[in-house]
Amino acid sequence: QAKGTGRNRAVSFTWSMKERFNRLHEIETGLRRAIADRELSLHFQPVFNLASGQVVGCEALLRWMHPTLGSVPPQEFIPIAENIGIIAEISDWVLGEACAAATDWPGDLRVAVNISPQLLRSAELPQMVVSHLMRAGLPARRLELEVTENVFLDDQAHTSAMLLELRKIGLRLTLDDFGTGYSSLSYLSAYAFDTIKVDQSFMHNVRRSPESQAVVRAIAFLAAELGMDTVAEGIETDEQQDYASAAGFTDAQGFLLCQPQARPAIAALLAGGIDIGTMRARRARRRA
Ligand code: C2E
Ligand code: MG
Ligand code: MG
Ligand code: MG
Repeated sequence: QAKGTGRNRAVSFTWSMKERFNRLHEIETGLRRAIADRELSLHFQPVFNLASGQVVGCEALLRWMHPTLGSVPPQEFIPIAENIGIIAEISDWVLGEACAAATDWPGDLRVAVNISPQLLRSAELPQMVVSHLMRAGLPARRLELEVTENVFLDDQAHTSAMLLELRKIGLRLTLDDFGTGYSSLSYLSAYAFDTIKVDQSFMHNVRRSPESQAVVRAIAFLAAELGMDTVAEGIETDEQQDYASAAGFTDAQGFLLCQPQARPAIAALLAGGIDIGTMRARRARRRA
């Protein structure tokens, strides 16, 4: 009878606080040696041009396999890496790996790297990027940096100076997860982004929400007027892909088209010349 009383709930609450604290502690200590212990890896997810079906580039996505916690998602450990002051070290590793991986790929395919707001504040970023491009022998136009709207929460003069400096290197800038954060349409024209990635929540809602449809169509239209590419993120169904095309998006990315892949697997797929059509044929064969 005593089960489920307030007192018991208080006890389990205490335990879960303790568990949360232990996990945070394990992540903090684990992160400090994750690079040295070779627990980090990158996966690469292709982005496809909707009109031609061709791959335009791949986004590098960080993976961490902790020895006891298993796979820890980047959305959990990146903010912790920022808090304990090792985001620059991790990003340095990511940039090096991403630039090296892109040199495996045919043609002019780009690699996109996510840059956290804290790193964008750091004066060492441009030099870090240049040295990785040089080491890999990768032309700057094949590198794309993705930042989210949160960077505009910081000192705007500083943010815009940094974006300008990165631009001068010759790389491409993408505004990621557009429409979720501290957004303003004025950023689109003021900050010369090459590409806008509309947050996947919009694509997941288009079916039942006329508001999402209107937002998505308006963003695609505005971006086209401003000469920017638009990526529809999180495409999971044929219907969402058709919707992205009809709304005027230039590009699409999502589990339907291709899952994120380890470096050897993505190199093999790209060397084989995948496109939206060949990926659809693969899916049909798997279902058969
Ligand atoms: P993001 O940059 O918006 O990356 C896209 C996320 O959506 C990835 O999650 C990807 O695996 C996932 N995704 C791709 N297609 C689909 C789909 O069709 N459906 C659904 N539901 N999800 C899809 P992931 O890899 O867990 O990364 C989450 C976030 O962590 C990223 O969001 C990015 O903000 C951050 N992140 C990842 N790698 C790095 C990194 O190297 N540095 C930094 N600073 N952040 C990173
Ligand atoms: Mg991204
Ligand atoms: Mg995104
Ligand atoms: Mg995201």
